[in-house]
Amino acid sequence: MQEIIEKLLILQDRDRKLSRVTQELAHIGPERDGLKNKASSTQTALDAAKLRVKQIESERKQRDLEIEAKKAQIEKYLNQQLLTRKNEEYKALTHEIEMAKEVIFKIEDAEIVLMEQAEVAAKNVVTAAAEAAAAKKLVDDLIGQLNAREENLKKEFAELTAGRAQLAAAVDDSTRNRYERLFKSKGENVVVSIEHSACGGCHMKLPAQIVTSCRGEAELITCPSCARILYFTRGMVLTAAE
Ligand SMILES: [Zn+2]
Repeated sequence: MQEIIEKLLILQDRDRKLSRVTQELAHIGPERDGLKNKASSTQTALDAAKLRVKQIESERKQRDLEIEAKKAQIEKYLNQQLLTRKNEEYKALTHEIEMAKEVIFKIEDAEIVLMEQAEVAAKNVVTAAAEAAAAKKLVDDLIGQLNAREENLKKEFAELTAGRAQLAAAVDDSTRNRYERLFKSKGENVVVSIEHSACGGCHMKLPAQIVTSCRGEAELITCPSCARILYFTRGMVLTAAE
């Protein structure tokens, strides 16, 4: 095989590794964000459950105050009854007292409902807390693994990049420019072998003259269809695949 082809294949192999590492690195950020969102959504659920408990508590306190107020009112009516000498007024006050007692009963009923709700809300907090803790632990573990992988990939990237300059310098400028332009536009498969007399990149059948020139190894031959750089090795099948 032509020396330049060997050097290009080594460079291409390096560039493939580099783009694999680059792609993997690009996925890590979004993956980490997704994990963080997952943990924060269970935390949000826990916060909501705790808030519900507080709301019920403050509602109960409000009801207690209302009962206290009604009791004070009843006290006042009883005192007025002691002072009055008018039968009508006495009766009216008795009626007021009955009404106030009715209201107290209703509020107490509402408080029973609130107590039941408080029980459910407290259970919800326990469940949500367990879920949030489990999610946090899982996410912390996974993020730890991701961070370690990122660290390794960065190291690998640095090593691959450091060595690339030397590999690139082994190829003359004009060939390297051509190769790099192809690598950018066509992806990772730009120095390709001839397979069944066809281009290993675009798979178009090659003219016999191209195959012969490539076998001659005197110059760099490119595919007339896709412009990829072609190479020939002994043992290649030269008959056209039918
Ligand atoms: Zn081609």
